[in-house]
Amino acid sequence: MTKIHNLGFPRIGAKRELKFALEAYWKGESSRDDLKTLGQQLRQRHWQLQSGLDWVPVGDFAFYDQVLDMSFTLGNLPERVQDFHGDALDNYFRVARGRSAQSASNAQCCGGVAAGEMTKWFDTNYHYIVPEFTAATEFKLDASRLLEQLAEAKAQGVTVKPVIIGPVTYLWLGKAKDDSNKLALLPKLLPVYAELLETLAAQGVEWVQIDEPILVTELDAEWRHAFNTAYHNLQDSRVKLLLATYFGQLAENRNLAANLPVAGLHVDAVNGRDDIEPLIIRLSADKVLSLGVINGRNIWKTDLNAVLDWLEPIAQQLGERLWLAPSCSLLHVPVDLDSEQKLDAEIKSWLAFAKQKLGELQVLATALNRGRDAVKAELDANRAAIKARRNSSRVNNPAVKAALAKIDAKLGQRQSSYAQRALKQAALLKLPKFPTTTIGSFPQTSEIRLARSQFKSGKLDAAGYKAAMRAEIARCVREQEALGLDVFVHGEAERNDMVEYFGEQLNGYAFSQSGWVQSYGSRCVKPPILFGDISRPQPMTVEWISYAQSLTDTPMKGMLTGPVTILNWSFVRDDQPRSVTCKQLALAIREEVLDLEKAGIGVIQIDEAALREGLPLRKSQWQEYLDWAVESFRITANGVADETQIHTHMCYSEFNDIIAAIADMDADAITIETSRSDMELLDAFEHFNYPNGIGPGVYDIHSPNIPSEQHIVALMHKAAERVPTEQLWVNPDCGLKTRQWAEVIPALTNMVAAAKTLRASL
Ligand code: GLN
Ligand code: ZN
Repeated sequence: MTKIHNLGFPRIGAKRELKFALEAYWKGESSRDDLKTLGQQLRQRHWQLQSGLDWVPVGDFAFYDQVLDMSFTLGNLPERVQDFHGDALDNYFRVARGRSAQSASNAQCCGGVAAGEMTKWFDTNYHYIVPEFTAATEFKLDASRLLEQLAEAKAQGVTVKPVIIGPVTYLWLGKAKDDSNKLALLPKLLPVYAELLETLAAQGVEWVQIDEPILVTELDAEWRHAFNTAYHNLQDSRVKLLLATYFGQLAENRNLAANLPVAGLHVDAVNGRDDIEPLIIRLSADKVLSLGVINGRNIWKTDLNAVLDWLEPIAQQLGERLWLAPSCSLLHVPVDLDSEQKLDAEIKSWLAFAKQKLGELQVLATALNRGRDAVKAELDANRAAIKARRNSSRVNNPAVKAALAKIDAKLGQRQSSYAQRALKQAALLKLPKFPTTTIGSFPQTSEIRLARSQFKSGKLDAAGYKAAMRAEIARCVREQEALGLDVFVHGEAERNDMVEYFGEQLNGYAFSQSGWVQSYGSRCVKPPILFGDISRPQPMTVEWISYAQSLTDTPMKGMLTGPVTILNWSFVRDDQPRSVTCKQLALAIREEVLDLEKAGIGVIQIDEAALREGLPLRKSQWQEYLDWAVESFRITANGVADETQIHTHMCYSEFNDIIAAIADMDADAITIETSRSDMELLDAFEHFNYPNGIGPGVYDIHSPNIPSEQHIVALMHKAAERVPTEQLWVNPDCGLKTRQWAEVIPALTNMVAAAKTLRASL
């Protein structure tokens, strides 16, 4: 019999119940007991939804983050919160979110607490709280959370499989605050894991899922060795370990993984298909192999018949040793497609969210265990859905495919070199040295949000909405006139989100109502669904930007989101390579760029905020990604005349390893986030002799603090030590949409004054 299980279930709730409960609790509007009760209800509901599985995950629920949960289980709290004697959950939120010294609820303790650092969970859009280590870190088991949840699950009568993060991945995810070697902590950490496993065994637990996803990354000898040390050390445990890897191929770590002394191995059979055959040969005959055959990272139905064609011989071979599961935790997909009331019926019939994916798993297991006939109706329906999607005229647009086939190197090539373009642009735009600009958005005020929600609900008609947005744009232009900025923006009042706004206007996109996915803590995102060939039926931004330009003689910067960012922040098709989808997006946005240019817009910014986060987990695959990502940007941007100035923006501060690709994009100016890193990241640009314009952010828009003129001047002096002054722009780190006008005005006033000072002195 093939068994089925799940690696993790989304915990936010189909209606984002956890989000709202957390936020109410943090605001002091509900009690700790209310929050705990809701957590319990969600777990119960989610186990109920999974009760058809042979094992349900326990311990995958987290009030904030599963890595932070693990830090608490291992007793690894940052030193700054160790003396806290209040409630454990409150301390947990102190690490997760920090607490300011002024906070009223802070009476118990002593001043403020800095939040734990947050970073991206592998190549997903989920963010975890980074464990903190020093050479002196000690670990101490606190199994209370797991024991509590185990008891709940058992009371509910489901068969439990606790889920924990493995010791090697746990260390890898963390950061040594004193620059010590964190791997040196392994001997101190392993006894705590052994004790945890023993505690679970004492509860009658048979299997424990121990997640080691770093096995899909490139590991050096030390880390590979750590795997052997760790799992040989834990091999006498009384529970059976299912070592879980996901998010990619094991590749060169295949033998390492296959030979670890554990009872079973879970692998990603969606991204790591090539691993499976060799693994089956290498795996000793007493080990379970769990195949992640349902994609836990996207929202498409699985082609069940095709998977069965592949699986049946494997099932024959492995018999009882074969388990099936989604490729990874379902944390990365929305909960329930049934919640979607407005989604186009045809597109909906192609989709599967978490609940539906578990249904697919059951069909597969039944087909393997009792023959395909036992689930004939389900398999037939699935085949029909897959076929309909493949053949749908809404997915396939021959004109788009033809345009894609015509892409050649010339398409992404500017007419002249940067040096020549710069001269022509200078003659036309007549910008001063150290030109000032902003990144695009101005404050999204409550009036803007109100107008948008009234428009969506029909209370405000299209003309009324347009008038309200125009009024905002006009205000934004007036304010920029008063500030004396050199290149204006229209302020993005009409945009809800930098990807959704474009997705809504492109053919090939659909939108869910409640397809929320946790990003961090209570924050969720609702990625648009890119289902078909992409085309642009009509201009998307030209009217707004032209209106803004009509109000002023100062150059108005057209504002677009780039193809790579749109791709990386959407659920994208699985029926063609990402590179192909990206180039389709590139061709569509290119048309917009050319239309803006035709409308007389002389400066156009194409944001690529998410270019970096699309980098593959394995460095060996970076170049391939960067090649098509950069080509896509070039196709989008570089069809313009020499006189048109192209800007791009990226809001992060790590460029060392991708600087060549950034230079290859050949934007006339790039604005980046730098204000918190004290301009050090410009080193990458300096060493590369980056030739084009650079605007290192001088205003940290993530903070309500107003930078002083002197501070900005000092930052720009540091920049000028690294980059010739002719190349420098003066601008904030990122868009201003989350700030208040009352903060933005003084900050930009200081920024403009700083630029004047710089012009006089440098
Ligand atoms: N133009 C966008 C803005 O200003 C850029 C946002 C981003 O980089 N995340 O809001
Ligand atoms: Zn940004």
